[in-house]
Amino acid sequence: MDFLPLFFKLTGKTCLVIGGGEVAVRKAGMLVSANAQVHVVAKAMTQSMTGFIEKHGCTYRLGEFVADDLDKMQLVIAATDNKALNETISQLANARNLPVNVVDNPDLCSFILPAIIDRSPVVVAVSSGGKSPVLARLIRARLETLIPSAYGELATLVGSYRERVKQKFATINQRRGFWESVLQGPVAELIFAGKEQQASQLLEKELTRQSARTQDTGEVYLVGGGPGDPDLLTFRALRLMQQADVVLYDRLVSERVRELCRRDAQMIHVGKARDKHTVPQEDITKMLVRLAKEGHRVCRLKGGDPFIFGRGGEEIELLAKEDIPFQVVPGITAASGCAAYAGIPLTHRDYSQSVRFVTGHLKDGAPDLDWKGLIQPRQTLVFYMGLVGLESICGKLVQHGMDSQTPIALVQKGTTLDQRVYTGTLESMPNDIKEEDIQPPTLIIVGDVVKLHDALSWFNT
Ligand code: SAH
Repeated sequence: MDFLPLFFKLTGKTCLVIGGGEVAVRKAGMLVSANAQVHVVAKAMTQSMTGFIEKHGCTYRLGEFVADDLDKMQLVIAATDNKALNETISQLANARNLPVNVVDNPDLCSFILPAIIDRSPVVVAVSSGGKSPVLARLIRARLETLIPSAYGELATLVGSYRERVKQKFATINQRRGFWESVLQGPVAELIFAGKEQQASQLLEKELTRQSARTQDTGEVYLVGGGPGDPDLLTFRALRLMQQADVVLYDRLVSERVRELCRRDAQMIHVGKARDKHTVPQEDITKMLVRLAKEGHRVCRLKGGDPFIFGRGGEEIELLAKEDIPFQVVPGITAASGCAAYAGIPLTHRDYSQSVRFVTGHLKDGAPDLDWKGLIQPRQTLVFYMGLVGLESICGKLVQHGMDSQTPIALVQKGTTLDQRVYTGTLESMPNDIKEEDIQPPTLIIVGDVVKLHDALSWFNT
């Protein structure tokens, strides 16, 4: 971050705007909207500046800027079209440790003005660090449509209850839970519908009801984090990731996905690298139960889909037994993600009628699979956890009757910027990749559909 966003209290403070043109008027307008007292210094002024000064009761001085103009100022904006003068202002202001903004010149600025979505008291500021004000404005326009205009009223209502809620609930978690239920529930809806009085009554009722509850029950969200690209998360996954106060994640969850969890959530890595189960499965399950019983909202974040080779079922069995509320959010499984991003349609009609997801995990040194069942005409096979056993998988398939020239693809780190796709045949693949530095996770796809990769691959990393 080149600039740290801060919100500056300017009520009653005197701020200097140098320049008398349209840009100066716009900047002065921002200061006035934050209740600042604006003083303008300009050699000449446009009509709109004189009108502005009159309307807002600003003070002004007509003439060249001089250093003394900075006396008693709290903040300075230089909006002149004189480059040398802007530079001088910036230097002088910096020498006095005065926050200074020079229009259209981020290098001379100690602060920059963001694009603002004003739902006071809620204010959203967007900045491109001075690199592209147009982009910041476009983002603002999108946010404008997403943030209901009544958020201001909602925040005001909530603000008036803050102290009482603090007194009623002993812990931060309880307060957070209460506010989340209010801000995402019927109270907020009533505000959006313009029914402020009803909203206030309902909030009062909720406060009595929820604070009377003695036992805090937590909840567990078993969330599929998809194969890596954060864009592939579902809306629900994102919402619950933002809501949970504890997150248990394993190695398959990409960093970019993890970064979308709530900033202040406690992040617990429970490992699960191949052959290195950092935390044994039973302990993970017990941890989920314990945390939920302590009243936490726990997100169990898993790679891909939690029910596909994810042991998600085992994790919620104990929760169900212990009567702990939970919900399951599906994720895009590695097979779908890798196939899509590698341009391999798993059931293209010309080649395949079915697809099977198979574990290539080794048992006593070899994959323990019903090979005959796997070798069917017009069927695509997808092997999860198959890299170590790749040679054995290819060998067994051929040994049990599959054509040794059947196409096969190995997708490394599918859907991420490190995605690589290797293709070959059952016969050639084990040798083809011997010299390659293959990094897990990898997925293996076997079948004629792999032929389409050359023509349909679209994701370039
Ligand atoms: N629940 C997960 C699978 C867990 S098993 C899912 O639905 O995707 C772990 C295996 O998934 C890995 O060994 C690998 O075969 C596969 N895998 C997961 N993410 C992958 C990725 N981004 N690229 C390639 N393979 C992946």
